[in-house]
Amino acid sequence: MHLRTLTLRGFKSFASATTLHLEPGITCVVGPNGSGKSNVVDALAWVMGEQGAKTLRGGAMSDVIFAGTASRPPLGRAEVSLTIDNADGALPIDYAEVTISRTLFSGGGSEYAINGTACRLLDIQDLLSDSGLGREMHVIVGQGQLDAVLRATPEERRGFIEEAAGILKHRKRKDKALRKLEAMAANLARLTDLTAEIR
Ligand code: ATP
Repeated sequence: MHLRTLTLRGFKSFASATTLHLEPGITCVVGPNGSGKSNVVDALAWVMGEQGAKTLRGGAMSDVIFAGTASRPPLGRAEVSLTIDNADGALPIDYAEVTISRTLFSGGGSEYAINGTACRLLDIQDLLSDSGLGREMHVIVGQGQLDAVLRATPEERRGFIEEAAGILKHRKRKDKALRKLEAMAANLARLTDLTAEIR
């Protein structure tokens, strides 16, 4: 599996559609300060489901939408598509090439798609979670983040390893199921009280 292309349109400083072609191996993005190198990495995290505006170096999620310049008006939406070579079947989907896309509208709505078919954010997170490109984004190491990893507590470090090993997904599902069980138990207790009152 490798990342093939990344297309940005209206995302941060990339007002016009821009496609980066990534070959297997190492890709370097070079450019002057402030030219948008980190915005490319932000786009990668964003299309893979990143939900934290701060992680994307903004105050609000809408900050990813091209805000305009002296010569160009702001845009009403940000779109990013990532095409992944899945010839080795690393992603659990029957396609040799998978394109995931995310769009955010300035009005607030957002859309996600896998190979052009609309889907939920959860579907994208599920698709990527066993590939090492999980929701916690430990595959993207930002400036200064290496230091944070080195200084992490043993619990946090365990979290990184669990994410890499694909365990975190199951832990999250378990937590969700336990929360549902708790809510169900509360409902049952209430029902028992009501039945007792009626009798
Ligand atoms: P450095 O080498 O200093 O780390 P960089 O090449 O990584 O810089 P980025 O941080 O990716 O640069 O890009 C910063 C630029 O992106 C700034 O000029 C900023 O104005 C622009 N930018 C960020 N968000 C938006 C937005 N929503 N609309 C328009 N431009 C934006």
